[in-house]
Amino acid sequence: MDYTINHPYLNGLMQDVMKKNPNEPEFFQAVHEFLSSIEPAMATHPELIEKQVLERIVEPERQVMFRVAWVDDNGKIQVNRGYRIQFNSAIGPYKGGIRLHPSVNLSILKFLGFEQIFKNSLTTLPMGGAKGGSDFDPKGKSDNEVQAFCQSFMRELYRHIGPDCDVPAGDIGTGAREIGFMFGQYKKIVNEFSGVLTGKKLSFGGSLARTEATGYGLCYFVDCLLAKKQDSFAGKTVVISGSGNVAIYATEKATQLGAKVVALSDSNGYIYDENGINLDAVKEIKEVKRGRIKDYLNYVPTAKYTEDVNGSKGIWTIPCDIALPCATQNELNLESAKALAANGCKIVAEGANMPTTPDAIAFLQENKIYFCPGKAANAGGVATSGLEMCQNSARYSWTFEEVDAKLKGIMTDIFNNVDTTATAVGCEDNFVVGANIAGLLKVSDAMIAQGCI
Ligand code: NDP
Repeated sequence: MDYTINHPYLNGLMQDVMKKNPNEPEFFQAVHEFLSSIEPAMATHPELIEKQVLERIVEPERQVMFRVAWVDDNGKIQVNRGYRIQFNSAIGPYKGGIRLHPSVNLSILKFLGFEQIFKNSLTTLPMGGAKGGSDFDPKGKSDNEVQAFCQSFMRELYRHIGPDCDVPAGDIGTGAREIGFMFGQYKKIVNEFSGVLTGKKLSFGGSLARTEATGYGLCYFVDCLLAKKQDSFAGKTVVISGSGNVAIYATEKATQLGAKVVALSDSNGYIYDENGINLDAVKEIKEVKRGRIKDYLNYVPTAKYTEDVNGSKGIWTIPCDIALPCATQNELNLESAKALAANGCKIVAEGANMPTTPDAIAFLQENKIYFCPGKAANAGGVATSGLEMCQNSARYSWTFEEVDAKLKGIMTDIFNNVDTTATAVGCEDNFVVGANIAGLLKVSDAMIAQGCI
């Protein structure tokens, strides 16, 4: 991968990041995408260089790594590694999810924490950027084992977080069950019932519509783009990768808006249902039984399942108007982008974080396929986490409709901000440029106002 940037100052900074953070390819990828896209703002914002904003913003404020020891069902001690990357608190308390997946490492969490800074800034809510997690794999573990891990994880994490300091949330592998175990342990240690985590169950401070928020928000964002082009979801064919939280609720909202979702996946393969996905079946498989996407054939025998050991790449060969990658990073590569283009796809919008590789993004943009980056398009999840924090602070709950209306308003504002910013710097419809510059300028203003810290 070539991380050169045309702008000499930005290029020098990129080289420094690579020297200081060896062997962190995902982090390089995220920083490179960011630095290379803010070039149009450099001439009109000399303060970015004068105040060393960029040198500071690529350096996490704090990185915590710790041992997580727990006892499995056979009485054997297991050891995982826990992390929390507190990247930037200029505009609010650190905020970002906890990822539990065997692939988790420092590079992946730094890329996610870095992106979170700009995503949270775009939501208009006061939230800084962070990310955390562990290489623990909840798949195949008993509830007891998941509980043992979550409690041990929180026995260290509790000292680094708090409702006004750092408010973690869910991510891959961390759903309501895991958040519940972590919340219980935090409450026990600190002796305090507070909004220290979001993504909680409704019975102890969760927000209605948080479960749906990322997938719904993604579709609201795409709907704004379609409306700008005098178009809509009605009658469109949509392919969605993944079959977790984001994928399920993107499927639900796209279907409600009149589209037909024909495919979903997991890390073993993908299903194709030409009649449109039966979402009740998927919810039962994934949310109730914690099964695999191939189990869909037990509910809809006419659907097709294809094994795909390399992740969800084969799914992008299915013809569609709109592609929503909602599984994981780098799941949509150049080959996939070419297949989508050849089949007439018009929009690729990221529900997952950084699912599209840099060469695939360049190809999509060159071929006039609208590309919506995750830091804008999937910001509905963290925005609704921000709304959960508001409700917890006020000790009050809004209705589903109230939260959903606020979410829709936020996604519309994000789209307009990103769109206007891109146009203002002469890059109309380049939503990567728009999202990065709009996200950066708010954080930069706050960092400069707060002095050298
Ligand atoms: P879940 O754990 O609920 O679901 C993840 C889904 O992606 C699963 O179906 C999983 O399949 C699949 N997946 C994971 N790795 C791969 C792979 N290598 N190839 C193919 N499929 C894979 O996570 P979420 O839905 O919460 O998160 C999905 C993405 O969205 C992540 O990038 C996350 O960071 C991002 N995101 C999530 C938000 C949220 O609110 N939840 C907010 C903003 C972004 P399997 O079961 O086989 O692992």
